Amino acid sequence: MQGVGFRPFVYAQAKRFGIHGTVINHGSEVEIDAAGENFDEFSLEIAKGPKMSVIDSVSVEPLPDWNPPTGFSILPSQDGARSGFVPADIATCEHCLHDIMDPKSRYYGYWATSCTDCGPRYSIIKSVPYDRERTSMDDFPGCHDCLKEYENPGNRRHHAQTIACTECGPKLSLLKGSGEIVLETETFSAAAELLDAGKILAIRGIGGFHICCTEESAEKLKTVLGRPNQSLAVMMKPETLGEFVTEPTKEEWDLLKGPVHPIMILDKIDPESHISLSQLHNLGIMLPYTGLHHLLFAKLRSPLLIMTSANSPGTPMITETKTIIEKMGRVVDFILTHDREIVNRCDDSIVRDGYLIRMSRGYAPVRTRMDLGNRQILGVGPERNANTTVYTGGFLITSPHIGNIRNPPTVAYLEETIKKLTGLTGSVPEIIAHDLHPQFLSTRVAQQLAERYGAVLCPVQHHRAHIASVTIEEVVGIAIDGVGYGDDATIWGGEILAGSPGDGYIRTGHLEQALMPGGDLATKFPERMLYGILPNEETVSLLRSRGWDETALRILGQQTEKRFNTPVTTSTGRVLDAASALLGICRERTYDGEPSMMLEAYAARGVAQPMEIAIESRNGQDVLLTSSILQEGMEMLSEGICIADIAASIQTTLAKGIADIALNGVQTTGIQKTALSGGVAINRSIRETIIETLKNAGVECITNPRYPFGDGCISCGQVITAGILAKEGRI
Ligand SMILES: [Zn+2]
Ligand SMILES: [Zn+2]
Repeated sequence: MQGVGFRPFVYAQAKRFGIHGTVINHGSEVEIDAAGENFDEFSLEIAKGPKMSVIDSVSVEPLPDWNPPTGFSILPSQDGARSGFVPADIATCEHCLHDIMDPKSRYYGYWATSCTDCGPRYSIIKSVPYDRERTSMDDFPGCHDCLKEYENPGNRRHHAQTIACTECGPKLSLLKGSGEIVLETETFSAAAELLDAGKILAIRGIGGFHICCTEESAEKLKTVLGRPNQSLAVMMKPETLGEFVTEPTKEEWDLLKGPVHPIMILDKIDPESHISLSQLHNLGIMLPYTGLHHLLFAKLRSPLLIMTSANSPGTPMITETKTIIEKMGRVVDFILTHDREIVNRCDDSIVRDGYLIRMSRGYAPVRTRMDLGNRQILGVGPERNANTTVYTGGFLITSPHIGNIRNPPTVAYLEETIKKLTGLTGSVPEIIAHDLHPQFLSTRVAQQLAERYGAVLCPVQHHRAHIASVTIEEVVGIAIDGVGYGDDATIWGGEILAGSPGDGYIRTGHLEQALMPGGDLATKFPERMLYGILPNEETVSLLRSRGWDETALRILGQQTEKRFNTPVTTSTGRVLDAASALLGICRERTYDGEPSMMLEAYAARGVAQPMEIAIESRNGQDVLLTSSILQEGMEMLSEGICIADIAASIQTTLAKGIADIALNGVQTTGIQKTALSGGVAINRSIRETIIETLKNAGVECITNPRYPFGDGCISCGQVITAGILAKEGRI
């Protein structure tokens, strides 16, 4: 209940119903001692809770030897149960925005204005219970006026732990990239002017630094960041949105403007417009979500700002001013920063079609009630797009997005987050779940922690974790993604897995095994992957026509034939990569997912034509022949059919084929329900085609309502699997 103004809410209700007593925080739980004639009405109101609260349960017990005090008061917090909610950060509410823009308000122009309904939470918390002295707001003792509001039960900021004003609160300053102070007042006018003049600024927000500039400076920004093709998220006011993208649905507007304010991926009105922002058919947009953003936009002439996380690829977002000067001082022209410590890093969350792509600011830490028994469990996550999950006392708690656990800074960030999450929940892991891959750095973290805590290790196969995160029921799971270590030590990624987390999942089907000539090189250069799937003369002449020389072609051929550094994979992502390469859409991957995202952008403009779906039974498993799909694509290409149509045809056929092998799984196992997970399901056409095909066959397909399709669900799936095995006494 913390950070949502629960105690002030109780106080207000007590006053309203003439209740005598006290309210107190015990760790993350609230205890109310109450007496009065209107007790029942009072307790009914309490059970509803304030706007942002999530109430797990309410229990009422008599207090036999208690003398109610006169009046009602809020007592100082005590340490206690830590099962409760570590609240996520909340975007500036409408009332606070009004205060910020109102010249008569004492919050006029103050960037860090907040109240019990809004403001930073997780990003400033050091420990629970959530009180100012355990947050980074402790450095800013409230002034007389702030304290008066804090103590006034009739005020909106009664017991708002983040209350602050120009007098007493955190302050902004504008620096040069070198760190030299330029301005400490009127920073917004100056920053807006610099941005409008084409300068690149680093801006310190709630959960970390953004790198910002206008659309005109996009190419310059991409060059200095070394991300030539990647889409850039933009921030704009709601009234401007209609000039760029198609109208969001009502639900999408509610989400865009609500407590979370995520980045939302929306379709461009003209797919070929604003190419410097996004080469795809869509654009990631968020609305201003802190006082700082609102005040900046009030001065800005440009309709939008590019806002991309400040980090080098694969490393955590920068949170500290000294680090931004050190690491990015030469990249940015100026730095707009503040002096409030960011205790916990938090990237922007990303949503598309109502599904989470990145679960971070505003969503995480996310807490889900689930009975997995009495033992405390930790899931360290996979390698890419990782987060971590803790299970304790009947709840799963998942951290915000951490990143790719492939380098020392991200490993350190994973360890730091595990420490934070176990600390905030007061848990000591007895079981540590991790990926089956023996070489993952996250697996090593799990091994080290198991030694430290004397915990039991529990390896969980990647795609089984995907399905377990969706449901613990028996299902025919469809896991479609890039890579995951399989039972047979090959790379999986297009799997039909029937069963439940407890009984294990049987692999009833998968995509055809394909060769990856050069291993990771085939991921970076998808034409290699194309040759891996179609190692024939036609592919060779296509590559030759694209400038491959004879030596390179000969080496590719020999490498593939001799299987030298050529692993096999059933990955769906690699098939899409190969299709993208076949159609000449993407020949070199410069960021994660580029070939398949570009393929989707082309396919969105095309019309799918029917293709043959070839399924073979091999070793008792249904195998979808992806080589047949690509071969047909190759023929369509030589017939001169337009690339967009071929892209659409390949995507649709692949999706139908996946649904077909899932239906075979339904038939052979008798399990009537399917579950879809994996990063490829973010692709709208593929996802909808799979769900539609299953529905037409009378089979329901469920997805995870609270976790991303991608690997942001893995740590949760690991913990669920370990928990169920533990409950059954198997670990
Ligand atoms: Zn507010
Ligand atoms: Zn103040």
